[in-house]
Amino acid sequence: MRQRLLKIFDILLETFGERHWWPGETALEVIVGAVLTQNTSWKNVEKAIASLKSSGLMDVDRLYEVEDAILAQHIRSSGYYNLKTARLKNIINVIHDEYGSSIEQLRNNGTNKLREKLLGIKGIGEETADSILLYALEKPVFVIDAYTKRFLAGHGLYDGPYRYADMQAFFMDSLPSDTYLFNEYHALIVALCQSHCLKRAPRCTDCPLKNQ
Ligand code: SF4
Repeated sequence: MRQRLLKIFDILLETFGERHWWPGETALEVIVGAVLTQNTSWKNVEKAIASLKSSGLMDVDRLYEVEDAILAQHIRSSGYYNLKTARLKNIINVIHDEYGSSIEQLRNNGTNKLREKLLGIKGIGEETADSILLYALEKPVFVIDAYTKRFLAGHGLYDGPYRYADMQAFFMDSLPSDTYLFNEYHALIVALCQSHCLKRAPRCTDCPLKNQ
């Protein structure tokens, strides 16, 4: 399976090129984006991030100090803004209280310990935690999302249970543990699912993976 998955990776990379995920100038911006993108499009998240940045709020201490009502106004465009304000505050409080407001300090912890810590924060599920680990903290974890599941189910690569942990283990047990590979692979699957492996009518005849 390792050889097959690596071949698929090479074909996708050649087809779509490097995807440069995750869009964000800093690790904090990626963390904030990972929380805000739950149940909304990235376009709506971009507006919220732009508002936080232009107000000088994209900083752990400033986010810690800002009143909930003010934060909620800045992230309004991302939807469910009161819920997301609480979720954002939950993770910012942990970074402030337990890691001295330092993303570097956070990053210095082992992957398993960090994952456990993130999953212990109310409102942070597996996909969000793993997106933070991979894209903000550069830890080698494979992110599973609806696109990954669609690709696995549609392409006949996998016949295991469609639970997050099982799908993640499929990739992580098969591939070398490599942050760049996991980052790029996930982004390439998204590109494939947006262009060919479509939900209602997959375009298998002109798919770059049709012979794989
Ligand atoms: S669109 Fe491509 S990846 Fe999706 S099922 Fe068809 S051949 Fe496989």
